[in-house]
Amino acid sequence: MLKFVTFSGFLVLASLISTAQEKPNLSLESIPYSEYHRQLIQELTVGFYSPVEEKILEAGPEVWRTWQTVENYTFGKDRGSIPMITDLDALHPYFKDKINTLIAICKSKGIELAIVETFRTHSKQNEFKAMGKKYTRSAGGHSKHQYGLAIDVVPVIDSIAQWDNVKLWRKVGAIGEQLGLRWGGRWKNPYDPGHFEWTGGLSSYHLSAGLKPKVPKLEKYACVEEELNQLSEYWKAWEAEQSAIARKQIVSSKMNESLSYD
Ligand SMILES: [Zn+2]
Repeated sequence: MLKFVTFSGFLVLASLISTAQEKPNLSLESIPYSEYHRQLIQELTVGFYSPVEEKILEAGPEVWRTWQTVENYTFGKDRGSIPMITDLDALHPYFKDKINTLIAICKSKGIELAIVETFRTHSKQNEFKAMGKKYTRSAGGHSKHQYGLAIDVVPVIDSIAQWDNVKLWRKVGAIGEQLGLRWGGRWKNPYDPGHFEWTGGLSSYHLSAGLKPKVPKLEKYACVEEELNQLSEYWKAWEAEQSAIARKQIVSSKMNESLSYD
C-alpha cells in the first residue's frame, strides 16, 4: 500500500514537472488572474513597501526636533541650563537595543528607570566640564555620550528620583553589567551609578578619531552604517542648536557682569 502511495505520488510529481516543461511560457503576464487577484497582489505589494516609505517621509530632515528633551532640575539636580536629550532614538542602534533590554529587565523586577540623558552635544559636555569634576572629567569630544554610546538613568519610586539609593543602584548596575555594559557605579572619580556605556572595546581616543564599534552581524543591524550616517546628521543639527544656546548664555552672563560693574 505504502509503495503504491509513493509511486502514485511520484506520478503526480512527474506529471507536474512535465506539465511545467511543456509550458515554458508560464510567466506572470500569461496568468489570466482575475481583477480580485490583481487587487490582492497590489494590496500586498503596497503593504510590503509603504511602511518603509512612510517612515522615511515621517522622519524628514528635521526628525531630531521631535526628540525628547528635559530641562534642568527635572530629576531634582542641577544639570546645567542647556536641555538634556533623553530620546533613545538618539543612541547608536545596537546600544539602544541594550538599553531597551535594561529598562525592560528592570521593569520586570519592579524597578522603574527614568532616562536622564542619552546623546550629548559638545556644547552640553563643555557646560558640564565647566560645572566641575563631579559632573565630568571629560572635555568636549571625549564623552561616550557624544557618540550615542552612553546613557544616564535614575531609578524612580513614586515619581522621585532615587539618586542616593545605593541598594537600588547595585541592582540596576548588576543587570547592566550582565548585558555587557560598562557601569559608572564602579568608578570612584566621579562615582556615576546612573551611567552606562558600550563602545565595543573602543576608547574615546578611537571614537574621536572616527572609528565605529563593531556590532554583531545580525539582520537587524544590516543597515547600521546608514543609520549612523543619518544619526550623525541629527547630532550635527543638535550641535548647531545647542551651541547657539551656549553662545546666548555667554553673552547674557557678560551683560550681567558689565551691569554689576555699573
Ligand atoms: Zn553619563
